[in-house]
Amino acid sequence: MSDLVLRFDQVSRTYHSGETEVHALAGVSFEVAAGELVAVMGPSGSGKSTLLALAGGLDTPTRGSVEVEGASLADLAPTALARLRRDRIGYVFQNYNLVTDLTAAENVALPRELAGVRPRAARREALAALARVGLDELAHRFPDQLSGGQQQRIAIARALIGQRRLVLADEPTGALDSATGEAVLRVLRTQVDAGAAGVMVTHEPRYAGWADRTIFLRDGRLVDSTGPRTTAAQLLGGHA
Ligand code: ADP
Repeated sequence: MSDLVLRFDQVSRTYHSGETEVHALAGVSFEVAAGELVAVMGPSGSGKSTLLALAGGLDTPTRGSVEVEGASLADLAPTALARLRRDRIGYVFQNYNLVTDLTAAENVALPRELAGVRPRAARREALAALARVGLDELAHRFPDQLSGGQQQRIAIARALIGQRRLVLADEPTGALDSATGEAVLRVLRTQVDAGAAGVMVTHEPRYAGWADRTIFLRDGRLVDSTGPRTTAAQLLGGHA
């Protein structure tokens, strides 16, 4: 049995607004195995966020199927899907989605506490996760006492805590300076090397360089995919 974590099979997502149909995603198939980090690139509006939302079970396809760890998300009961999302899937949202009246440490510990881990143990795990992104000293601060880049790193710590098997990140380096961006990519890479599967949306070829593969979307279609030996920069027309 292959160690497949995520599988898209002919996935389409169509939005209807009034008379018009928007094909946000059209017939997209790809797979991500454990130990693999895949970058998703493409122009604005090409379907990148839609792809991540479908992979994370936050949205459902109009056609096709999305499987996580061999289970088709459409076949899961709501409670099973909620548990999978809480325990197995880490999601770094573009707007971070932090709880404003919880501290950094409480935000990161939250999914563990919801999973039944005792508060003290959950806090210990949260502090360790914050240390991985270099923020353990700010653990007691509330989100509005932190910069955008710091909030983003908290969101990343929260996505990596526990036994996450699939890490989905929408522009995880967006608000970070390049040194911090590299540091965050290194944390993500380490998590994937330890057996998770990762999918990250990025606009930056140099960050895509941390991925094993890059897939390119255009108008909701998967138009190209680099293998491990082709870099995103080459595909974008840089030096071969
Ligand atoms: P990207 O992340 O690459 O910028 P998105 O996945 O956000 O692209 O969007 C893909 C397409 O789907 C765009 O044309 C967008 O306008 C459309 N779209 C996304 N979400 C919705 C929605 N909730 N209702 C209608 N259209 C949507």
